[in-house]
Amino acid sequence: MNRDERKVLTCIVCPNGCRLTVEKTAEGLKITGNQCKRGIAFGEAEITHPTRTLTTTVRTVFPEAPVLPVRTRGEIPKDKIEAVMAFLNTITITEPLGIGAVAAENVLGLGQDLIVTSDMLVSGL
Ligand code: SF4
Repeated sequence: MNRDERKVLTCIVCPNGCRLTVEKTAEGLKITGNQCKRGIAFGEAEITHPTRTLTTTVRTVFPEAPVLPVRTRGEIPKDKIEAVMAFLNTITITEPLGIGAVAAENVLGLGQDLIVTSDMLVSGL
């Protein structure tokens, strides 16, 4: 984003989905359209270092549940999501893990574990 540029974003911090306008000025970023301070933090982060929690599935060896829902414990850089997805395509869950279990530690050295978000492997489906 160059100086004097403006970008319109939807804040995804809460269900209100405020439409934010982020402008780069000589004084720094100017954010309008937010209904609360969290929108300012989101707008700034989205322009300087956007991050997301990745929610997806990974393969298992269990025929009754061939894929298991997982997510990163916290947010990872948005520009790393493709690389993380490629990595996750290489792993297979071989143990019956339940909610909160770590399926992969410190994924790609990004400081976030991949955790299981379903008990489908331990509940007997
Ligand atoms: S600016 Fe505040 S109220 Fe609006 S969507 Fe973001 S968190 Fe919700």
